[in-house]
Amino acid sequence: MQGYRWGEQPDDPNVIKLNTNELPFDPSPQVTQALRNFDPSILRVYPQPTADALRDQLAEHFELRRNNFIVTNGGDEALRLALTTFVEPGTTFAMTSPSYSLYPVLAQIQNANITEIPLGDDWLHPHDLAEQLNDAEAQLTCVVNPHAPSGQLTSAQDIEQLARTLEGVLLIDEAYVNFVDPQLMYNLVPLVNDLDNVLILRTFSKGYALAGLRLGYLIGHPALITPMVEKTRDSYNMDALSQIIGAAAFADHTYAQTLWQAVREARTQLTDGLRQLGFALFDSQTNFLLARIPGNAKLNAQQLYLALKDNGILVRYFDAPRLTDKLRITVGTTAQNQTLIEQLQELLT
Ligand SMILES: *Cc1c(COP(=O)(O)O)cnc(C)c1O
Repeated sequence: MQGYRWGEQPDDPNVIKLNTNELPFDPSPQVTQALRNFDPSILRVYPQPTADALRDQLAEHFELRRNNFIVTNGGDEALRLALTTFVEPGTTFAMTSPSYSLYPVLAQIQNANITEIPLGDDWLHPHDLAEQLNDAEAQLTCVVNPHAPSGQLTSAQDIEQLARTLEGVLLIDEAYVNFVDPQLMYNLVPLVNDLDNVLILRTFSKGYALAGLRLGYLIGHPALITPMVEKTRDSYNMDALSQIIGAAAFADHTYAQTLWQAVREARTQLTDGLRQLGFALFDSQTNFLLARIPGNAKLNAQQLYLALKDNGILVRYFDAPRLTDKLRITVGTTAQNQTLIEQLQELLT
């Protein structure tokens, strides 16, 4: 099998890093404070095994209960846990395609059959997605919304319809949900009160500028959450430090909202700039853009990726079906986006 291919993490701090969808802003000052106040003697004993303080904090925020949450070592552990818990080896895991390239890796480790349902020409769900998934007898289906790598949002109504029609478990990967325009009123969380086949994945890596911490969680009906908390989870999957820092970051909701708004504004700026250069873009509700290289460009996507890298700007190029004519570009600061636009202008004219 082929392992997951992660984005480059250069040592040089001067590189403009627009390749792995990290935020270009620091985490909350409350995180700094929590680290300053951290008492290392806490590390002598095992952490609270099920991260209950953080689960209670999440429960209060989302108006749910502790047993609607499991906290994990990054969203990626949540994906692995859902797969190992709900997909028997030899049964079917399903995903739309293209999508997050970690899904098929985790499914292969579990010896699952993988059904990949191609997205339409518009990169949206085919209208008969639920039927296709039920025909494939998918035990677990992952859909990422807003979508990676297109950035597009499928409406809450459409996802709810999918969940209600599916016979298997639906995991909605909402890694980028914090960047959705609030006016769209997208919110699937209340669905977990109603449906016992829905899991919603969230992460601190993107929205809270904490990719280095490794903290994520799943929201779901206790029928799905409890087996993971009590049976399939690693004995101490959440270290004490992450539990404390995560709580501090999550409590500073005001700061988080300023981060998300700054990303949205920078996203508009970058979208406009790239469109003016002739790139074709989806409307993104995430902190990245999937940009198709202008038809008349002197360089193809891979050459453009390499030329930018030579100039100290990292973006993501995927040598994968439907992606070889595109670059995935993380939204940076206003200044970083401006530098990128200027460099692209030079490289393309
Ligand atoms: C970033 C990301 C995740 C989770 O990342 P973690 O850093 O492990 O929390 C999950 N799904 C998608 C599509 C992502 O981009």
